[in-house]
Amino acid sequence: MIESSTKGVFAPETLQDYGADPVAVRESDKYVSEYIRGFVDKWDELIDWNSRAESEGRFFIDVLKARGKETVLDVATGTGFHSVQLLKAGFSVFSADGSAEMLAKAFDNGMRHDVVLKTIHADWRWLNKDVHGKFDAIICLGNSFTHLFEEADRRRALAEFYAALKHDGILIIDQRNYDSILDHGFSTQHKYYYCGDQVVAEPVHVDEGLARFEYRFPDGSKHNLNMFPLRKNYVRGLLEDAGFRKIKTYGDFQDEAEEANPDFFVHVAEKN
Ligand code: SAM
Repeated sequence: MIESSTKGVFAPETLQDYGADPVAVRESDKYVSEYIRGFVDKWDELIDWNSRAESEGRFFIDVLKARGKETVLDVATGTGFHSVQLLKAGFSVFSADGSAEMLAKAFDNGMRHDVVLKTIHADWRWLNKDVHGKFDAIICLGNSFTHLFEEADRRRALAEFYAALKHDGILIIDQRNYDSILDHGFSTQHKYYYCGDQVVAEPVHVDEGLARFEYRFPDGSKHNLNMFPLRKNYVRGLLEDAGFRKIKTYGDFQDEAEEANPDFFVHVAEKN
């Protein structure tokens, strides 16, 4: 069990446990025990770094550079992919996550790529308790925001992100195209993000309040994630309500009009 960073206790779980009725598990706190060591170790198999770098290209670097941004807070560091890419591109990066397992893995990955990650163990809902300072940009990528199940938690997290940004800061937040999954069923070529070709990632249950995904690995192991299926316009509305004045949404890294049914959306939300 992983307890809060303030208690300084960290003993990793080895098995995921959703209890007798997995589709009833719809809690914002669940992510900590979902990212157990076995799953985290496999995460980079799922998110193949080389193919991912190829498919994303310079998208995030270009968005940040075009707006003259230099300091970046990665609030969903995960295993460190974006933190490492941005450090290597010359940005000043701080790497936060609520999962100690993820941060430990991210730090190791950073060392293997010759960079030292400045990691911060922080939950988004209380971000400014642990993260001090104001940033030019916050990134929340890899379909992470989907882990919040309560609307109050989403509003609270966005308020914390907003407060941690400078007066002209930007938030870059992405999400799976859940509208398409909810309205037409699941179909994807795994072109973006889930690039590991050895791993099958697909939903095993979908309703308006839950998308439960299963990840099957070549060694026969299986892991799950319970996520809230965020609709695109709902997220845009939340960003507006949080105070962001300009929101541009991309579909699979293209202008929305150019990509009819993307796998992922990226929202770039600007304070000013
Ligand atoms: N950004 C990484 C990537 O693209 O590979 C990781 C994505 S992973 C799907 C989601 C990450 O969000 C996990 O590392 C998880 O621990 C983190 N996370 C989920 N809910 C969180 C919360 N409430 N506070 C902080 N981190 C959270």
